[in-house]
Amino acid sequence: MDLSYIINRLGEEREHYFNAVSPPLIQTSNFAFPTVEAYRKALANEQDVFIYSRGNNPTTDILCKKLAALQGSEEALVFSSGMAAISAAVLSQLKAGDHVICVENVYGWTRELFTTLLGRYGVETTWVDGKKTDEFKLALRENTRVIYLESPNSLLLECQDLRAVAQLAAEHGIVTVLDNSYAGLLSRSPIEMGIDVVVHSASKYIGGHSDMVAGVLCASSSMIKRLFNREFMTLGGVISPHDAWLMIRSLRTLPLRLRQSSQSAQALVAYLDYHPRVERVYYPHSPSFEQRELALDHMPEPMAMFTIQLAAQDVQAVERFCNSLEYFLLAPSWGGHESLVFPTCVFHGEDSRSELPFNLVRVYVGLEECETLKADLDQALSQM
Ligand SMILES: *Cc1c(COP(=O)(O)O)cnc(C)c1O
Repeated sequence: MDLSYIINRLGEEREHYFNAVSPPLIQTSNFAFPTVEAYRKALANEQDVFIYSRGNNPTTDILCKKLAALQGSEEALVFSSGMAAISAAVLSQLKAGDHVICVENVYGWTRELFTTLLGRYGVETTWVDGKKTDEFKLALRENTRVIYLESPNSLLLECQDLRAVAQLAAEHGIVTVLDNSYAGLLSRSPIEMGIDVVVHSASKYIGGHSDMVAGVLCASSSMIKRLFNREFMTLGGVISPHDAWLMIRSLRTLPLRLRQSSQSAQALVAYLDYHPRVERVYYPHSPSFEQRELALDHMPEPMAMFTIQLAAQDVQAVERFCNSLEYFLLAPSWGGHESLVFPTCVFHGEDSRSELPFNLVRVYVGLEECETLKADLDQALSQM
């Protein structure tokens, strides 16, 4: 389907709302019925009608149609956060005694979900590096039910061969779940590569303005139908109609925003690659990235994020670099209008992630002028 059609037309029925160009925000929790019979009929099919906004809402419905089409899936659901989407996706496939294979360097709270929460319910997880498909094969067990992927993954941006892992999983009747937040909605469709469930943190690129938290889950109609009637309705991590409305608004500029950030990121990586105070840049589209071919296949458009390893003698030098930046804000998250840095040394002193080198700084490139950002990095590197 044509990208412009999806973003500007799909799911929108202007003649039903005064031909307004911007769709209405239906900020309601419930919907009334004229008769008991009509109410009874509606309850038999909660996913496709409007009864209560924990289930379905007209504003949210427009958004879901667009998201499914953008990701190339039959259907999509939106949640109150990326973690709500991830939890629902994972819980929908597991019961006590099952086994999961998960990529090692995943988003921190995803790791927590598998270790602490699912561990408590008797679900075991095997962690694999994920760069070689054979590692998944070796980790397979009789009771493996889910292979959880994140490609590229957090911080080092390592990729998994989605087609190969999906094929391996299909041969063994295992469900694949992929966190596709970093590659984004406009990358090659993981669904078309055979992945069963794709999740996104919509708080990042999709929201795009650092003013909301939301999540997306894309899958086949049959899988979504089951999930809707169980994990979606019972766990209740539902998005507010207002946030759904904001997401529709954000989608209008998604391709533009990604293009701008991607172009600036490439220029900044080219500059940093040869900077004497930078030891190494991790960027999937760099000629030096060992999985470049795989990354290009999955993400034709280069990423807006990279990680630099500073040539720093100590944590203080990393801190001087970060503290000197004026445009790059020191903050979590990414995918908004503003450029951000996230140094791994913030974890130092905490047990959880302190095995990471102290001199890594993740850089997200926002929508500011590229020359401004370059000058900012330049002055901060000189303060190091
Ligand atoms: C932010 C993020 C999440 C969690 O999403 P929330 O919307 O913050 O709940 C999951 N995966 C990745 C890769 C993320 O960056």
